[in-house]
Amino acid sequence: MKSADLHLHTIFSDGTFSPEELVLQAQKNGLACIALTDHDTVEGCAHAAAACAAVKMEFIPGTELTAELADTELHVLGYFLDTQNEQLLTEIAKFQIVRQNRIHEMVACINELNVPLKVDDVFALANCKSPGRPHVARAMIKAGLVRNLDEAFERFLKKGRPAWVPKAKMSALEGIELIHQAGGLAVMAHPGLNRTDEIIPALVDAGMDGIECFHTKHSTATSERYLQIAEKYNLLVTGGSDCHGFSKNKPLIGTVKLPYEYVEKMKETRISRITTNSN
Ligand code: AMP
Ligand code: ZN
Ligand code: FE
Ligand code: FE
Repeated sequence: MKSADLHLHTIFSDGTFSPEELVLQAQKNGLACIALTDHDTVEGCAHAAAACAAVKMEFIPGTELTAELADTELHVLGYFLDTQNEQLLTEIAKFQIVRQNRIHEMVACINELNVPLKVDDVFALANCKSPGRPHVARAMIKAGLVRNLDEAFERFLKKGRPAWVPKAKMSALEGIELIHQAGGLAVMAHPGLNRTDEIIPALVDAGMDGIECFHTKHSTATSERYLQIAEKYNLLVTGGSDCHGFSKNKPLIGTVKLPYEYVEKMKETRISRITTNSN
């Protein structure tokens, strides 16, 4: 049966695979279709599209926007985006600057604790426009300041820890609109991780198209719950591994295999939207 993984990260945000390495891994896992969803960027999409074309794998250009609603952080996935869309590129560039400034702030907090992490080392390791906490954690490991990612997050980077710095986020409603005007479908990422089901009706009212029912960190019961919610609100169903490469143990790609029929439904919705808009 054909399957897809619609939630994947590369070195263009906080993953460790290049787009080419990611496609190779997707091939090894027998996936027919992948979407790239790096945080607040679409920079890797052209590379991944080329790598997919070379092996005749279907590719969906995407992103994972960091957004908020009612003081809750949530991630909004965008699929089938026009990665040249001007408004999309302008908006995400602002949030990339926020991410870069936040690295300086996090390192300053770490230095205040007399832990000698160098900000240049973090940027050298991240080497992308959309750096995040995993890059800080990896730079700390590399400098011998912590033993592993968990220690870095537990001691410094997790919410409430001394180097946790909140970041300015777009509102979820703006995120949905931004994705739509770039021709994409907007999907709520890993709802089971946020435990914020009460915001789903507001997202549906804002035009959200789908919900990520299948995710590495969703139990079978959690997936079932969101499948029911998808049915209730007539939402598209998506799923993906949220693979970040080798950042933690074995790569997650291949652990979630979304039956391809869900991708077909996404394509039908997208086509009907284009037809409606052009009438
Ligand atoms: P940021 O976007 O900079 O806030 O970083 C969020 C990313 O950090 C998530 O996408 C995860 O990949 C990663 N992350 C969050 N919490 C942890 C944790 N406790 N251990 C390892 N990685 C984490
Ligand atoms: Zn990430
Ligand atoms: Fe996420
Ligand atoms: Fe993700």
